[in-house]
Amino acid sequence: MDFAPYIRDIEDFPKPGVVFKDITPLLKDPKAFQKAGEALLGLTANMKIDKVIGVDSRGFIFASMLAEKLGAGFITVRKSGKLPFHTISESYDLEYGTGTLEIHSDAIEKGDKVLIHDDVLATGGTAQAVCKLVEKLGGEVVQCNFLIELTFLNGADKINGYDKGVLLQY
Ligand code: AMP
Repeated sequence: MDFAPYIRDIEDFPKPGVVFKDITPLLKDPKAFQKAGEALLGLTANMKIDKVIGVDSRGFIFASMLAEKLGAGFITVRKSGKLPFHTISESYDLEYGTGTLEIHSDAIEKGDKVLIHDDVLATGGTAQAVCKLVEKLGGEVVQCNFLIELTFLNGADKINGYDKGVLLQY
């Protein structure tokens, strides 16, 4: 299935110059939603996966579906101040300033094989920070998995030591 017709470009959102990839048309279409989940799962074929991380917040949607289908645990990585228990954090560069992501310190066991899922790979700062969080807790990143990669932003360079799974490239 071609998922491109279900991705909507929103110009100048959330700020001027950004073309936001809106995945809500895909999510609201029952067939496209189901097929996208199956296609993402297909990218992980034959991988042993203990935990799936969903990145705040659009990453949660398919990450939880993948975890359920893989028989893996589901973990959230969230923006700072949202998680209630003990956390470790990692800061990364944004276009203006820095962002901070957190994970519960008991989310991953040493040796866990971890799949990271987010909706969009843009500059790669987010995915790189999540990889660092996983490794700080002794986990092993088996794949960074995305619906969409914006190849012109070269985010893949930041995660070039890891397997990358992507459905749609722009
Ligand atoms: P980055 O750290 O630059 O790779 O940005 C990735 C994160 O920001 C992901 O969690 C995306 O949801 C979000 N993001 C960045 N750029 C876009 C975009 N053009 N459209 C939609 N989401 C984006």
